[in-house]
Amino acid sequence: MKTITLFEGDGIGPEITQATLDVIQALQLPLQFEKYDIGQTAYEKCGELIPTVSIDSIKKNKVALKAPVTTPVGKGFRSVNVQLRIIFDLYANVRPAKLLPNVKSRYENIDLVVFRENTEDLYIGEETVISADEVHAIKKITRKGSERIIRSAFEYAVNNNRKKVTCVHKANILKKSDGLFLDIFNTIKEEYPQIEANDVIVDNACMQLVMRPEQFDIMVMPNLYGDILSDLTSGLIGGLGLLPSAQMNDEYAIFEAVHGSAPDIAGKGIANPTALLLSACMMLDYLGYQQEANKVRNAIIKTLANLEDCTPDLGGKSSTTHYTQKIISNL
Ligand code: NAD
Repeated sequence: MKTITLFEGDGIGPEITQATLDVIQALQLPLQFEKYDIGQTAYEKCGELIPTVSIDSIKKNKVALKAPVTTPVGKGFRSVNVQLRIIFDLYANVRPAKLLPNVKSRYENIDLVVFRENTEDLYIGEETVISADEVHAIKKITRKGSERIIRSAFEYAVNNNRKKVTCVHKANILKKSDGLFLDIFNTIKEEYPQIEANDVIVDNACMQLVMRPEQFDIMVMPNLYGDILSDLTSGLIGGLGLLPSAQMNDEYAIFEAVHGSAPDIAGKGIANPTALLLSACMMLDYLGYQQEANKVRNAIIKTLANLEDCTPDLGGKSSTTHYTQKIISNL
């Protein structure tokens, strides 16, 4: 029996977690979940955003499924997600954006994966107030940080029968920092002659994603561009409610939806659980249950065919529970 650390999160977190667990439990796999708190709920219960017991559970189980959490605003707290990435050095943020059949979108044939570097860049949070009118923020790019994310993008391409890796950067302006990232990309791509490799400046990448997203396959980039572009890619495939992710390194993996805790719809029973469920599918792939993961993906696709069974963000009128039960009956 494999044990997985589970965080129900805040806002819509508990609702979409229950939906996800209901589907996973219907698969009857030898998996069990160990539930701990992080985020606002943890803070209210024990005065800590990331309690030590929660960290210890990830250390023990190595795999976690995490619903979105709320970081209290204006109290000087560092984002829970950023802290988790630092504690576990989760350098790769993998965000597959695949347009599912039956989802309304302006596009067709979108199947791309964003590899976002997760530990460096402006997200190190080193800001210096020079004066009341001037603040400097440090953008950190290192050889080690760049090499490992770029290499993992190429390895993913090889292992998943992908054809192309695109590096996204702004090396024309940030000649030294993004210049280093691009240089490393150009060196590593030589090790993978079977994979087509190119690079695109980030502003052009945004335009190209909107005009011709089907040209992209795997995209690798520093932290900030990855954050922004992956939200953009969620818009291409039907919205944030459909985009899964994994944050990982060679030892640990945390699977979570890209969206936040959606406080505006929390408790209304209308949250779309698909992103967390697809994140759980990535987790099943990771644990060696690819067949079961595909069974869930197919059940989601079948359910999406009937708009009446979908949640309001997808254009339907159904509740989270109704949508989930339909997925289970389509398994
Ligand atoms: P959000 O993603 O929570 O919401 C943006 C919009 O999308 C809202 O209108 C919301 O209702 C909608 N939405 C998001 N997920 C949905 C779903 N599953 N089903 C239906 N509609 C959905 O972003 P936000 O409002 O900027 O952030 C809210 C809180 O979430 C903040 O406290 C933020 O810090 C936190 N957050 C957490 C994570 C995480 O834990 N991984 C990520 C992003 C934001």
